[in-house]
Amino acid sequence: MINEYQIRVAPEVAAQEDRLKAYLADEQGFDARTIYGVRILKRSIDARQRQIYVNLKVRVYINEEPQDDAYQRTDYPNVEGKPQVIVVGAGPGGLFAALRLIELGLRPIVLERGKNVHDRKKDLAMITKTQKVDGESNYCFGEGGAGAYSDGKLYTRSKKRGNTDKILNVFCQHGASTAILADAHPHIGTDRLPQVIEAMRNTIINCGGEVHFQTKMSRLIISGERLGVSGERILGGGETKVVGVEAEVISHPSPLTTNISFFGPVILATGHSARDVYRYLAEAKVEIEAKGIAVGVRLEHPSQLIDQIQYHSKQGRGKYLPAAEYSMVTQVDDRGVYSFCMCPGGFVIPAATDKQQIVVNGMSPANRGTAWSNSGMVVEVRPEDLGNEESGDPLSVMRFQEELEKMCWQQGNMKQTAPAQRMADFVNGKLSYDLPKSSYAPGLISSPLHFWLPKMISHRLKEGFKTFGRHAHGFLTNEAVMIAVETRTSSPVRIIRDKETLQHVRVQGLFPCGEGAGYAGGIVSAGVDGERCAEAAAAYLNH
Ligand SMILES: Cc1cc2nc3c(=O)[nH]c(=O)nc-3n(C[C@H](O)[C@H](O)[C@H](O)COP(=O)(O)OP(=O)(O)OC[C@H]3O[C@@H](n4cnc5c(N)ncnc54)[C@H](O)[C@@H]3O)c2cc1C
Repeated sequence: MINEYQIRVAPEVAAQEDRLKAYLADEQGFDARTIYGVRILKRSIDARQRQIYVNLKVRVYINEEPQDDAYQRTDYPNVEGKPQVIVVGAGPGGLFAALRLIELGLRPIVLERGKNVHDRKKDLAMITKTQKVDGESNYCFGEGGAGAYSDGKLYTRSKKRGNTDKILNVFCQHGASTAILADAHPHIGTDRLPQVIEAMRNTIINCGGEVHFQTKMSRLIISGERLGVSGERILGGGETKVVGVEAEVISHPSPLTTNISFFGPVILATGHSARDVYRYLAEAKVEIEAKGIAVGVRLEHPSQLIDQIQYHSKQGRGKYLPAAEYSMVTQVDDRGVYSFCMCPGGFVIPAATDKQQIVVNGMSPANRGTAWSNSGMVVEVRPEDLGNEESGDPLSVMRFQEELEKMCWQQGNMKQTAPAQRMADFVNGKLSYDLPKSSYAPGLISSPLHFWLPKMISHRLKEGFKTFGRHAHGFLTNEAVMIAVETRTSSPVRIIRDKETLQHVRVQGLFPCGEGAGYAGGIVSAGVDGERCAEAAAAYLNH
């Protein structure tokens, strides 16, 4: 017999299978020995009151062996010799597009400017060692994209965009724990993500697709293109159609490159940090527009303090609860101020994509076990806030990001040492005399962020922090440190596409995809958008 129950139990019961079996047997009047297995289908923590509960939906196997049906498998057929589609970018958008193309019987050719997920790791370590960022292999560029070395949070606010469950099941099929199907706030962890990404790549290759690393798209091959006055290639007035891409194969570390062309419709999933791609599109007069982003800092607290606040206990989380999360949001002067991409028990990391920049972000291992918890604390910035909206410059928000990241690098002594300030000092307009110990490996330098961050951001952050401090007693504290600057919260540009066909509004056969195109924010929504673009490409090919 198989029964399902909705229960509410103490954390120590939820965490131990024998206690859970005993609880269920007692509640339901069974003999505990007849329970062969318990599968957790849904799990969420209710920490609103002093007594913490875990809400569970469980499937109980009574006198019956548990079935091997923890996740739904997808069949991937062999696609050798099938029509091909070029996928530019091997982030979640590109990888899920490639896998869905295979499901639909099409052959993906994936181009990725960075290295495979294993070799990429060495370049990440070099950032701390040498204080220098490799412009082609970093926390944003390389196999797995911006999500590879992250917390691997897999929840999305948007359920409308498509089948998020499918994305989670595909992750499980490639080695992620099936706990992600049960948890209200699932995450994989930076230590587990690389193996999952490698397994996804192997599926693509084993089915007859191709994955080319260190291969950077330099331009789209567009029929109907003409040369502009300064020799640049711009779109003509008539019908335009993408027939392929030209790419540079980067023989790293040698400066030598070779050019190579790939032919087919193009899914462009290059992420929010490929500024050269945005510049190329703007120059070629492929329609794009400036889009709002959010800008601020990474705020890092001791994780014990966040546990104490969120779990209402001096003892913190104890043995059976995970590192506590928080989510904060308010409005200041008509703009949102909010926490973003919270990483409990994680690290703050240097996420720049070029040399003269500082950009910070966060990641956590699967056990979320470090001594720090961080989140982006950001303020909404709209194109009209930058005061040059009449210019109609589609790159205005991107340029704002660039200026701020460069200023931050200058404030950080032209290295990856990030400017930082204690939280209460920032609110009180005081330079921090010293800084707390931090997880940010390249190091911190005390800096008056209240003074040099743009006023529209510093003023709102200050007011936002006061509000958050009132709602969560102990949150606004000098034990927390603000690390500048968090600018890559979403894409500063939207590549305009048709709502139905998902093709670019003017260029046929071009499918702007994922976060960089302005249609996703996060791993899951990028994956969902990748799948949708693959389906649209199949429809375009009448497949
Ligand atoms: C440190 C960090 C932590 C994060 N944590 C989370 C999290 O926990 N949960 C979450 O949901 N989201 C997280 N995010 C955001 C998430 O990673 C992104 O939303 C997601 O990766 C976007 O997917 P994408 O495929 O659209 O773009 P990306 O992941 O940015 O992938 C784009 C890929 O295209 C490649 N590329 C760029 N230009 C070219 C070119 N010209 N030719 C060939 N290849 C090119 C890049 O190298 C890159 O690999 C995090 C981001 C960062 C940086």
